[in-house]
Amino acid sequence: MSSAGIHHVTAIAGEARRNLDFYTRTLGLRLVKKTVNFDDPGTYHFYFGDEAGHPGTILTFFPWAHSAPGRIGIGETQETMFRVPEAALGFWTQRFIEHGVHHDLPKKRFGETVLTFQDPDGMRLALAALPGIGGEAAGRSDVPAEAAIRGFHGVNLLVADAAPTAAILTEVLGFREAGRDGSLVRYKAAGEGPGKVVDLHAAGDFLRGRLGKGSVHHVAFRARDDAEQVAIAAVLKERGIVPTEQKDRNYFRSIYFNEPGGVLFEIATDEPGFAVDEPADHLGEALKLPPFLETRRAALEKMLPELD
Ligand code: ZN
Repeated sequence: MSSAGIHHVTAIAGEARRNLDFYTRTLGLRLVKKTVNFDDPGTYHFYFGDEAGHPGTILTFFPWAHSAPGRIGIGETQETMFRVPEAALGFWTQRFIEHGVHHDLPKKRFGETVLTFQDPDGMRLALAALPGIGGEAAGRSDVPAEAAIRGFHGVNLLVADAAPTAAILTEVLGFREAGRDGSLVRYKAAGEGPGKVVDLHAAGDFLRGRLGKGSVHHVAFRARDDAEQVAIAAVLKERGIVPTEQKDRNYFRSIYFNEPGGVLFEIATDEPGFAVDEPADHLGEALKLPPFLETRRAALEKMLPELD
């Protein structure tokens, strides 16, 4: 029983077209799946990632045009961090200036140079410039391959007290403590590759977060397959945390639970991936629906907002 790190992060956006444009054109991620929110099928569900949508690279959104802005607070993801090659930071700073992306001056965090910025809905993001990272670059925008985003670095969770969340990370999800920087404690999953970092920011008595556009809804961690997910669920139950029943998300299978710090966590299987219902070189081009919604396709297509 151990997770190999982050599988995906799911957030709430405002207008769908603007969200799509920012992540594919400005950031150069690939839209690897265009589907609907299975629990609210009048809403899109966009999945952005690397070329294949590997676990650890996938940022997903529910775009709700009329959503009120969220407010960062306790029990929420405060920042979602991507990885870029060390030499690419100048490119990104220049690009953010040219595209009018709200960003800050680079800063050092855990010895890494980090460029923090926001998406058009105010979601807090960061690029961590890291030496020696390879991985697949999306290559479908004007972002040159050598500067492209290489999946997630990780997430930063705002909690009242770090210890209960840290226990879930280290005793259930296979992370280990990897350092402290000011009020942040870093946890790392084993191995190389994207999505290995969770930073906990213990803020004590502070307002709870409020979900809305620009907010992260949940963070999903990886399970190799159903058996590993069952093993993780068993360890959670021993600790008095009962996850949901498994839900079939078509591209992975998921269970959910609230970790003791208040953040909604998911355990998602690496299987079967995004090429299960369309060819790998055409990911994200057509609206894909799960079998139980296919009979409603015509009505849903009318209800969903225009994208071009
Ligand atoms: Zn999810």
